Order: sequence, then structure tokens, then C-alpha cells
Amino acid sequence: MTTFNDFGLHADINRALAAKDYTQPTPIQTQAIPPLMKGRDLCGIAQTGTGKTAGFSLPSIHHLLTYPHRANPRGCRMLVLAPTRELAAQIAQSCRDYGRFTKLSVTTVFGGVPINKQIRELSSGVDILVATPGRLLDLIDQRALRLDDVEIFVLDEADQMMDMGFIHSLRRIAKLLPSRRQNLFFSATMPKEIAHLAEQFLEDPVTVSVTPQATTAEKIRQFTTFVEQKEKQALLHHVIQTSDIDRALIFTRTKHGADRVVRHLKGAGIEAFAIHGNKSQAQRTTALQAFRSGQVRLLVATDIAARGIDVSGVSHVINFEIPNVPEQYVHRIGRTARAGAEGMAISFVAPDERTYLRDIERVTRIKSEPMALPEGFNELVRNLPKPAAPPRDTGSKGRNPQRQRDEAAGGRGEGGRGNGQPRGDRGPRRDGGPAGEGADGQRKRRFRPRNKSVGAHKGAVKRVG
Ligand code: AMP
Repeated sequence: MTTFNDFGLHADINRALAAKDYTQPTPIQTQAIPPLMKGRDLCGIAQTGTGKTAGFSLPSIHHLLTYPHRANPRGCRMLVLAPTRELAAQIAQSCRDYGRFTKLSVTTVFGGVPINKQIRELSSGVDILVATPGRLLDLIDQRALRLDDVEIFVLDEADQMMDMGFIHSLRRIAKLLPSRRQNLFFSATMPKEIAHLAEQFLEDPVTVSVTPQATTAEKIRQFTTFVEQKEKQALLHHVIQTSDIDRALIFTRTKHGADRVVRHLKGAGIEAFAIHGNKSQAQRTTALQAFRSGQVRLLVATDIAARGIDVSGVSHVINFEIPNVPEQYVHRIGRTARAGAEGMAISFVAPDERTYLRDIERVTRIKSEPMALPEGFNELVRNLPKPAAPPRDTGSKGRNPQRQRDEAAGGRGEGGRGNGQPRGDRGPRRDGGPAGEGADGQRKRRFRPRNKSVGAHKGAVKRVG
């Protein structure tokens, strides 16, 4: 069995791994680290939760330590691009953790926060820069950053980058990179257009894949309940109250939808936070910290905001609305069952979402288990408590669509797709909800009672035994 010692990583990295209590490399690490140590380009098909961040950062840190030299002013030796600021912050934190016994500098740049501090941090050069594409280009345009010294280039979550409309930014960035460099390209899914993008970045790459294309994690039990859109909130309350939830991520398609769910939960005395592109960075950080620490066990999120959320112990993902892009479903449920744990996904499917469900099941090749509405559901619907009043300051960053886009993505002008909504999800809502409100996600849901015997029978949401 492969151990971390087999990779020949720098001693300072092995120390950091020991400090983190990593004993066994994950499959993506076992496959990716040896070719990366030899300097090969790599195309990795892996979801978050597989350990891919360590898979690419450990050999990269090894390289930076093996060939030590100072980064040039306004330059960086390793550049990691990520689609969202949450993911960028998380990758940077991992790099800091893995490099904690070294002197390597790690800097993050993304939009939604003042640029001047970032300009100052870059002025003397950094070893590892983790960035979202829009802010990166801003900094380049302001001559605060140059990419001609990049030795290692990592493109993470390429499929999400494409969905968010970053393709033009990526092409621009690619032209600014030196021709001699090592390239790493990661994507949870590899449809043709992503494979084509990969070809443009990679040279003779090793391809590693830890899950078959668009296959959902095996450890996630997936359930579906058919329910009218307007009755979903009552079902959500029931599921929350009767299930053994450690932490649940609840997905809505739109930012306003996420706020609405939170207000309804609050009205029923259930504490929850929302995280989406209209929230300020401080609010997003607070919500994530509360969720991470267990202070709040329900986080209502849109797809974009949820990218890069790495919180262990997410027992349930609840798709309040399901996505119409199957790959998005894969991303969503990848938020649970992380690092080998088990998880549950529950999708609330309204009549007009059934075709989306069929698409998802076709792509994932997994048929979710039906979960019946609980007994007395009509009563629950009738007695649904009124939602809490909207707070005066909702944390909205204003109605400027450009700004909202930047906030969602963590950068400036993050491509032409506008609201960060995945392709194909731009039409008006069929459920009568607000159209074109900057929907930055689709729908999805799931969660799991710890008891595995939850099944298709009436009242199945209840934990049994
Ligand atoms: P990632 O897919 O990179 O987002 O990683 C998912 C989670 O797995 C993170 O919380 C990592 O800290 C954790 N992780 C990564 N590699 C290992 C490992 N070899 N052993 C235990 N946990 C790991």
C-alpha cells in the first residue's frame, strides 16, 4: 500500500502531513503525485472531496523547495486559478498548511475586497498565488502582477470555470504565461468542450481519474421526493425536524430563493444562514465559520457560492430545487461524503423538474430512491409558520449586475455569462418564481439520516430505530 513516504516529498512537507494526521494518500494523490514529481503535465478528473488539493499542492511545494529562489517582484512561481473566492481561500489555506514548516509565501487574490492590499502583497513577489480570474486580470491590467515567471500553473474546477463564463479570461491568462511551465488541469467532469480546453493548456499530460465521468460518489445515498414547488418549505421543515442531521447544505437555484428559505426557517424557529453572491465577503465568512464550527447546522446556498465549501461532517445535502445541468448535481452532492465519510442527498422534485431529474439519472447512471411524503403532509403545509420578516440590511451588495457578478465569482467581470448561472439555466422560472434575478445556481437537495434503513415507505424521512 502506498504511503506518503513513498513519494519522496521534501521532509518539511512530510512533517506537515504528519501534523495534519494524514496517514494514507487518497486515490487521486496516489495517482497524481508520482508523475507530478517528475514534472509531467496532468489532467485530473476529480471532484472536490477526493483530496485533489493536496494531490496538486504537495508535489508543487516540493518543486518550489527543491529549486529555491526568490520570486521576482510582482511575479509568482506557482499560480492556481479557482472559480470562486471560497475555493481560492480554501486552496490557499491548504497550501499554507502543507507549507507551514517552510518559508514559502502564499497569497490569495479575488474580487469583492479592496485591491490595494493585494497590490502591496504582490509587490515583492510571492511563491504561491491563488486567484480568481477576474481579479487576476485586474491586477495584471494595473501592472501589479506579471505571469512570465510562472513555473507551475494549476487550473482547478475547469468545468465550473466554463459554466461561469470564464473562458475568455482563461484564454487571456494563457497567453500571458511563459511557454515553459508545468500545467495541472482539474475538472469534476470532462465533457468535450472541457477536454478541448484542457488540450490548449496541457502538453503530453498524464490523465488520472478517480471517479468515472460524472458518476456520483458511491457513498452518497440519494433520495427523491416528488412535491409541489409551493409545498417544498413544509417538506423541508419536516425533513429537518425528523432527520438525524449533523450538518446540512440546502441548495436553492436563486439568491432570493435562498433568503426566502432562511426566512421561512427562522419563522419556524430553525436557525440557518444563507450564503450566496449577494452577501458581503464578511457575511459569507461568518456564515461559513458558523457552519464549520457547528454553531449553525443548516446552510442555505446557491451553487456558485457553495463551490469550494469544504466542511467536514456535512451529513445531508438537500436539493430544495434541483439543477437542470446534471454536472451541477454531481458538484452539489460532492459536498457531503467528503474524505471517505458517508452522506445523504435528498432532492425535492416539483412536477416541472422531473425532466431535470431524468437527465441527472441518465448522466450519473444512478437512480435515486423514492422517498414518500410524510403522513399528514397536508396538515404540515396548512400549518407552515409564517416567514420571518426580511432584515432591513439583507447584506445585498446592491443591484448593479456587474458588481453582483463579481461578488458571485470573486472577481471583476468574470466573463460573459453574467450572473454566474450555469449554462442553460437562464430562462424564466417555470415555478412562478422571480425570473432573471441573477440565479446563480439550480436546485438540488439531499441529506441522510444516519440510519441507513430510510426507504421509500410513507414517512420515510423519519429516522427509523
Ligand atoms: P479536497 O478534495 O482537496 O477538497 O480535499 C477534501 C478533504 O480531504 C480536505 O478536508 C482535506 O484536508 C482532506 N484530505 C486530503 N487528503 C487527505 C488524506 N490523505 N488523508 C486525510 N484527509 C485528507
